[in-house]
Amino acid sequence: MRTLRRLFIVLFAGILFFACERIPPKGAGPASTQPERIKNVIVMIGDGMGPQQLGLLVAYAHHAPHSIYEPVGRKTALERVMESGTLGYARSEAADALVTDSGASSTQMASGEWAGAQMIGLDRNGNVVKTILEIAEEMGKSTGLVTDTGITHATPAGFAAHQTHRSKQDRIALDLLEAEVDVMLGGGLGWWIPQEANDPDSETHRELLRRTGGTIEIRSKRKDNRDLLAEARARGLALCFNRTQLVQSSGDSVLGLFAHDTLMHGIRETRTKEDPDRSIPTLKEMTEKALDILSRNPNGFFLMVEAGLIDWAGHDNDTGTLLHEMIKFDETVALVHEWAQGRQDTLVLVTADHETGGFGFSCSRFDRPAPRTLPGAAFQGETFQPRRNYGEQRILDAIYNQKLTFPEIMERFDALPEAEQTPKALAEIIEANTAFPITEAEAASVLGGETDDTGFYGTGVAFRNNLLARIVSKRQLTVWSSGSHTNTPVPLIAYGPSHVSSRYGKMMHTTEWGRKTIDILSHGE
Ligand code: MG
Ligand code: ZN
Repeated sequence: MRTLRRLFIVLFAGILFFACERIPPKGAGPASTQPERIKNVIVMIGDGMGPQQLGLLVAYAHHAPHSIYEPVGRKTALERVMESGTLGYARSEAADALVTDSGASSTQMASGEWAGAQMIGLDRNGNVVKTILEIAEEMGKSTGLVTDTGITHATPAGFAAHQTHRSKQDRIALDLLEAEVDVMLGGGLGWWIPQEANDPDSETHRELLRRTGGTIEIRSKRKDNRDLLAEARARGLALCFNRTQLVQSSGDSVLGLFAHDTLMHGIRETRTKEDPDRSIPTLKEMTEKALDILSRNPNGFFLMVEAGLIDWAGHDNDTGTLLHEMIKFDETVALVHEWAQGRQDTLVLVTADHETGGFGFSCSRFDRPAPRTLPGAAFQGETFQPRRNYGEQRILDAIYNQKLTFPEIMERFDALPEAEQTPKALAEIIEANTAFPITEAEAASVLGGETDDTGFYGTGVAFRNNLLARIVSKRQLTVWSSGSHTNTPVPLIAYGPSHVSSRYGKMMHTTEWGRKTIDILSHGE
């Protein structure tokens, strides 16, 4: 909501307030006995974060010998929110389907209506639905979308855009502007700049290079010459392209686009968190800024925060990257939890749109541990030796120590001169960047892998990530049952005043909790 409109609504609310003050409403008790009304709703989405992904994070936090959670009693923020709030489960399937994608799922959460797979902001028949973000706007609240993928990607799009397919990101960008979202922070600059920017000699290209400080690739993905950055500025949005500009921006509305496509993946975020020269803000930093801006509106706000790359690590079956994506999300949850602590006017929901990958640690027939003696009375004269390998906890440190994502490993291999693209070279790159070396024969099977004939995995070179995962799996004791989404019910955590949060402690479909949340925001209770 822009400043003028906000001023009007605040003035109008003020007049109503004074008008009401003279005639006390019938039956109204003393103000102190009235529970405070909910004026802010924050929805946090781990894209692809099923209970399995949560399982990886908490296993690491509690059992990794060198867990970074050691100083905080090995407890994750997600567990702390569950402790102080309510835990339920959400089914997420799209309309007339068994599974969902992020577009239908975010539409269902945002509107409470069933949507077809890959639709954005439409019901199952293709009619435009009203979203919680649009309802918040109408109520004079401020609104925000924050993601570490592109801001026009399916998850944020489902809250403020209306398109027949999630791939129409050029039109989704226009919808986001039209919806007057006050704070939009993420990646995907390519959808906002005119096609002519692709000519390196054009003034547009040079101007964009100057404004972004050369930290972002300037490459338009639009099919037209519309300059949406100029349109955004005309609508009153301040523009930011790096962390410094974001920190310094002081207006009430901002569009921050910090990368051509997605922002930093979790491993890079972990490694550069303390780097003062880092130009891309972390998910936590963006969320902090969004809360700072949105909370200035006395009418309250709606904010959606997405950790979108959990899903990407799931598609790649890349456990090391997945762990860092989960840590990234958890740090952001910690910030929001702290912000909302003690407030009676805010409802925080932490959930996922679906699970990705059918992931888990699993016990194996291989590498059965050696027998051990135990001091307990029942084991006198007998040794302890389970008949399977249930996994050593040091594996968790090894997973954390991965240096490159699987796609980066493959990119590095593909960048070698063709004559040097040998199985030996791939094995060497893997040995240098993960704690799970593979043999040359195994590397050859990754490179020579047949195309996926199940339909559940990546296509072309992306399939190599899934093949690599199957090989390191044996040593990580991890399993991935798919390279795609599953229908596993996902966690739904509600944090806020207990008379509100307690309504989420059950199994619901995304449409059901979506409707419930619209109801709570609309009525303040
Ligand atoms: Mg997403
Ligand atoms: Zn996905």
